[in-house]
Formats: sequence, C-alpha cells, structure tokens
Amino acid sequence: MSFDLIIKNGTLVTASSTYRADIGIKGGKISAIAETLEGENIIDAKGKLVTPGAIDTHVHLEMPIGKYTSTDDFYTGTKAAAFGGTTTIIDFVETRENQTFVEALEMRKSLAKKRSIIDFGLHMTIMPHDIKKLDQVQAAVEAGCRSFKIYMAYGNRLNDGEILLAFEAIGEAGGLPIVHAENWDAITTLIDKNLNEGNRGPEWHTRSRPAVLEAEAVGRVIDLATYAGVPVHIFHISCPEAIERVKNARIQGHFVTAETCPQYLCLTDEVFEAEGVEGALPICSPPIRGIIDQMELWEYLSSESFHTISSDHCPFTVGEKAEGLDAFNKVPGGVPSIEMRFPAIYSRGVRDGFLTVNQWVDLCCTTPAWLFGLENKGDIQVGKDADLVVFDPEKTVVLSETSLHEEAGWTPYKNMSITGWPEVTISRGEVIVKEGKCYGEKGRGQFI
Ligand SMILES: [Zn+2]
Repeated sequence: MSFDLIIKNGTLVTASSTYRADIGIKGGKISAIAETLEGENIIDAKGKLVTPGAIDTHVHLEMPIGKYTSTDDFYTGTKAAAFGGTTTIIDFVETRENQTFVEALEMRKSLAKKRSIIDFGLHMTIMPHDIKKLDQVQAAVEAGCRSFKIYMAYGNRLNDGEILLAFEAIGEAGGLPIVHAENWDAITTLIDKNLNEGNRGPEWHTRSRPAVLEAEAVGRVIDLATYAGVPVHIFHISCPEAIERVKNARIQGHFVTAETCPQYLCLTDEVFEAEGVEGALPICSPPIRGIIDQMELWEYLSSESFHTISSDHCPFTVGEKAEGLDAFNKVPGGVPSIEMRFPAIYSRGVRDGFLTVNQWVDLCCTTPAWLFGLENKGDIQVGKDADLVVFDPEKTVVLSETSLHEEAGWTPYKNMSITGWPEVTISRGEVIVKEGKCYGEKGRGQFI
C-alpha cells in the first residue's frame, strides 16, 4: 500500500486511548494505522503526541454586531485557528427579515468559502423576526445546517413562548438547539441600577451579571426543552451554579450538553482591575468570574460534567472597545481565543492535572464532532478525514499579540505561558501549518 503522507513514531491520543502507532494518509483520509508504515513522504513525530484536528464549535468571524464587525475574517480567523491546531470551526448565520433561512445560509456559506483555510459548518440563529419562518427549519436542516442558536439575552433574544415554538420546530426537523442563557430582564435592571449609582467601570460588568442569573436561565431553558421534548446544548457556561443545573437535568435523564470556554478557565475578574482601556478589553458575556468559580469549573471538567470546550472567539479592536470607556455596557463584548484554545486546555488542563490527555481530546475534538454530526471529524480512525495535529508537549509559548496570529492587536492572555503547542496541523491530508508557517490556501476550506 502506498501513502501520500505518513506520520511516524508518534503517540496517538484519542478520546479513549493513548498508543504508539504510525498513520498512513491517502486521498485526504486516514488509510492505515499500524505499528510501522513505510513510504517516501514522512513526518517524524517522535516524542510528540498526534491528536485529531481540534474542532471549535463556537466562533464569530466577521460577524456584524450593531455598528461593529468582529475583527477576524474567515481568512485571518481560520489561519489563527490552524496555528492553534484547529481544523474545523462552526460559525453562525443570521437572516435578514425578508430572507429565508436557506438564502441566508447560502450567502454566509459563500462568504466563508472564499476565505476559509479550514473546514467549516454554520449554526442558524433564530431571531424574533424568524419566528414566522419556523416552517423553514426543515429546509435549513436539509441544506446542511442542523443546529440552531437561540439568544435569551441581547436584541436578538426570544421570549419564553418564542423559545418553545422554536424548540418544537427544531425538534420536528431533528435539529439541535443551542442557547445563550442569561436572565436578560434581571440583568438589564441591574445594569441600569449600577450605572445610575455611578458604577461605570468594567468590574461592574461582572457584578451586573451574577452567576445565579445565568443559572436561572439555564434551568429555565432546560425546562422548556424538556417540555418540548428536544435535546439542548448550553453555550459558554461560566459558573458552577449553571453547570450544576445541567448536571441535575442529566441525572433526571434529559439530553442536555454543556460548553465552557478558555476565558472562564484561564482568566479571572482581576483582569478588570487594569487601568484604562486595558481593563475594558476582556469584557464578554457571560462575564469572566472569580478564581473560585474558575477552579470549580476545572473540577466539573475533571468529573466530566462538560461536553465541549469552544472559544466563542469574538474580538474587537482596542479602539472599538475604548468607545465604551465611560460605561461598561457600551463596550462591544467578546475576546479572542481561537488560537490558544487547544494548547491552553492541554497546558492548564492536562499538565496541571485536571484532565487526562484523553479527556482533553474528547472535549476539544471528539464530542464536538459527535454532537454536531461531523461524521468524518474528531477522531483518529481509518476512513476518517486526515485532520491531525502533531503536538509538541514540551514546547513553551508565551502568549502575546505578536506570538499569536489573530487580528485584534491584543490578547487577554498576554504573558500567559503555555507548555504544549502544535508543531504541524494537517487538514484532509494537507499540511496547512508547520513549524510556525502557514501553507493553507485561502478558500481551501469546505462547508461541512
Ligand atoms: Zn458566541
């Protein structure tokens, strides 16, 4: 048997096992896994881990939000992702009022297709003006979009009745609802109260969005999903109170899954103490909380209460963030994490003893692929896409806006030292990043 590429001498890490083997790649697929394979084109992975390409099921690239657009486009964002070992992302589609789901999907798909260097999928956002289009949910699923984002916060939020209608339509079409859960009514009341009392600094962002109000919304949306008889995936859980609701619902037999993100696992609310705009940069929602919340989230990860770790990558420039300096609620929310996610979870999770290497791969690669139906991704098996990472477990990288490839011009993880970093990233058999250089061509990414 001949191969296009062989990865030799590496230690393979999957969600369930760790073992020494060579991988043979042909036609973009994994075509053999054996103790020894021979061929011409070889990557030597001696002393390295070989993992599935990481999957980031929650990113916002060139996303319009009010007067802003998130900083990374589908080229710069997917390039940064590839440097961090991510070979598949799932981004979002929003419809205009007079547009069908499928029309909006096709538009966003062709935009992403032009620039993306890695494979991508899209979640459909269901906004208030989409409630009258729920009979189109089935068509969206058939067009390749099977997950539907629902906001309980912001201008795009649905009320509980609308959520119920959306859940029923998604359930009938065999789709998966995913939810941004926060109690918007109570939070906006607290924001107004704090601003009126002259509390305008970034630390009041977290204080206006207390953990219990995130947990309340998580509990409520699980109840609505239970009533509608649909599974539900909860995005970006930031606190123990919220994951505890998921855990309890699962004990009762409900199909609920949960995501958390690097910003809740690597940062604490001390970030808001920095002077001037520095303190406003890390504003995102749900908010970055205290050190005790962070440590407890790691414990919940360790005991497998979470299912995915995604980035929620949604950066804005320093100038855009600075426009909200006189009031925390005017700062566009979101942080860049698309590049550091996979290695950071290895460094903070595996090296610091919270996770096994297999749990790391499961949370960042395998369960995300399974949950969103990416059948050819997320695992090292013959027949799967050859999306692979040769990962150097000893390489130390100090994060900064210069060591990372994101476009925001800043990172909330500045000076964070990470040990463990991708050396080679392979997408469908093609080396797209090797030793700090990107070889992936703009537009090579496919819609999946
Ligand atoms: Zn998001």
